Amino acid sequence: MSQADGPKGAILQRDKKTYAIVPRIPAGVIKREDLKAISDVVDKYDIPIVKITSGHRLALVGMTEEQILPIYEDLGMDEGKAVELCLHYVQACPGTDVCKFGVQNSLGFGIEIEGIFTGIELPAKFKVGVSGCPFLCAESLVRDLGLIGKKKGWTLVFGGNSGRQVRKADILAEDLNEEETIALARKCIEYYAANAKKKERTGAFVERIGIDELKKAVL
Ligand code: SF4
Repeated sequence: MSQADGPKGAILQRDKKTYAIVPRIPAGVIKREDLKAISDVVDKYDIPIVKITSGHRLALVGMTEEQILPIYEDLGMDEGKAVELCLHYVQACPGTDVCKFGVQNSLGFGIEIEGIFTGIELPAKFKVGVSGCPFLCAESLVRDLGLIGKKKGWTLVFGGNSGRQVRKADILAEDLNEEETIALARKCIEYYAANAKKKERTGAFVERIGIDELKKAVL
């Protein structure tokens, strides 16, 4: 797996002296005690920048290398991944927990998905979007793995990308229950892990092998 620049996934900043970290916040739902701990370390270590990232995390920026381990000790939170070749984050919208448009429990399912696939070594970084309805607030169609809640169940899409090579993910299956969704997601991820080249994102992988080949392997 690619390595971060400093301990616990810390990333060296452009000044070549200070580091950033992204403590893991599953599906962007932050616990009250974690919020308090973050506020306390920002004060204690005089952290100059706290940035909400596009992946629903909080980046703490501007610490020295020596501060990273004590900060994580004080936080009591897991490290988030930002450069390693693995799942980086799950974006999940509020879904049926609070959103009036929600038809599926995207938040709870997003947290579950993050728990299942965190820590698996992959060919490239990997991002997931879980949206509780077809309005797609969690950007599911431009994530490596996307889940879209519909009345009859989950639609699973694969191979999306919002970066330099923008790509709309392909639909692999619809009307799945949660168990079926996890099983298919696992098959897709395992097939991708076994057959993609190093640093080949899912979008490039699907373009290279063809979506029919992926469907043949996982459906
Ligand atoms: S995707 Fe749908 S359920 Fe999720 S926040 Fe947007 S409107 Fe609400």
